[in-house]
Amino acid sequence: MSDRFREAMFSYAPTPLKVLARGEGARVWDVDGVEYLDFLAGIAVNALGHAHPVFVDAVSRQAATLAHVSNYFASEPQLELAERLKRLTGGTSVFFCNSGTEAMEAAVKIARRTGRPRILALEKSFHGRTLGALSITGKPALREPFEPLLPGPEFLPTTVDALEAAIGDDVAALVLEPIKGEAGVLDLPEGYLARARELTAQHGALLILDEIQTGAGRTGEWFAFQHEGALPSGTMPDVVALAKGIGGGFPIGALVAFGTAGDILKPGDHGTTFGGNPLATATANAVLGEIERADLVGNARAMGGRIRAGLATLAHPAITDVSGRGLLVGIGLTGPWANAVAARALELGLIVNAAAEDRIRLAPPLTIDDADVDRFLDLFTQALAATESSSS
Ligand SMILES: *Cc1c(COP(=O)(O)O)cnc(C)c1O
Repeated sequence: MSDRFREAMFSYAPTPLKVLARGEGARVWDVDGVEYLDFLAGIAVNALGHAHPVFVDAVSRQAATLAHVSNYFASEPQLELAERLKRLTGGTSVFFCNSGTEAMEAAVKIARRTGRPRILALEKSFHGRTLGALSITGKPALREPFEPLLPGPEFLPTTVDALEAAIGDDVAALVLEPIKGEAGVLDLPEGYLARARELTAQHGALLILDEIQTGAGRTGEWFAFQHEGALPSGTMPDVVALAKGIGGGFPIGALVAFGTAGDILKPGDHGTTFGGNPLATATANAVLGEIERADLVGNARAMGGRIRAGLATLAHPAITDVSGRGLLVGIGLTGPWANAVAARALELGLIVNAAAEDRIRLAPPLTIDDADVDRFLDLFTQALAATESSSS
């Protein structure tokens, strides 16, 4: 199978882990019928798990009704999703696209259109692979092969001191993830986001939050900036980028603007053919509607708590720390064993992700229950044996 992949595909590692055939809830099966507990969910995408009836029904019905119309026309699902995202975020207006990186492209264009030259981003951040989003991604190994990129972005250490030193009236925007998912689920320092809001407001710079991974209930609030005390009370971000979980597996991205940030791009400045089409937006409406109906935000909080309590009880000597919030979980390891642990887990029938050489990332469906968590803890404990074998 890896030969077939190698001969037919480019840009990804030539040996995919498994060839998957179908899924149901938090379970997937490969082409040989082997079952896996999926604690990655397509990287925080399959919010309702696999083949959820609400998702299946929404895609099927809308495909049979009206799939695509172009942005010369509006559609009911599109307007409903824009209104839903406004209600859930507290934002003012929405731009639709098809992926996370495209949402960040639109954010970068907003920043540039302010006329100010500087964009501040953080070291170890990840905002996507297209050239604008890549320009503000704080991982030199991803950026350098494609330089020169956009001039202007500066990458700061994630400290309030560094931000205070860098901010000024020539800064268009500060861009950041509330939790750095691709870096291995790294939390911001306590109080950082709130201070970032104050400083950007003082200097008239936009605060652009990349909630592509943390949004849609994943962290135990609808959006990570809504956690108690995350922002100074009564304040909002200027722009929030969304994708991944909002479509539950259907490709969609969205950029939510708050207040005047939504007036910066003028008609004709930006657009995309598929953005906000009825098929994508009807599906996202159904997914977000089900997250609301079933209180999966509360479930993310509860199950995240159960995972954290279970890992604490385990007190495994190879675990250094547990980061993230809700069902976005980072597990720090004492050494570069993450790939070995993830590979061992897969052999045992558990999908987790080595997001950094010494950090495991979990992002299971928001629908998981106690039994799924207990099964995860059992399999993960077994997989941790890979740290001992590689360290001894
Ligand atoms: C996944 C991700 C992106 C890029 O999204 P794509 O849909 O892969 O283009 C950007 N920012 C963050 C924080 C992400 O997790």
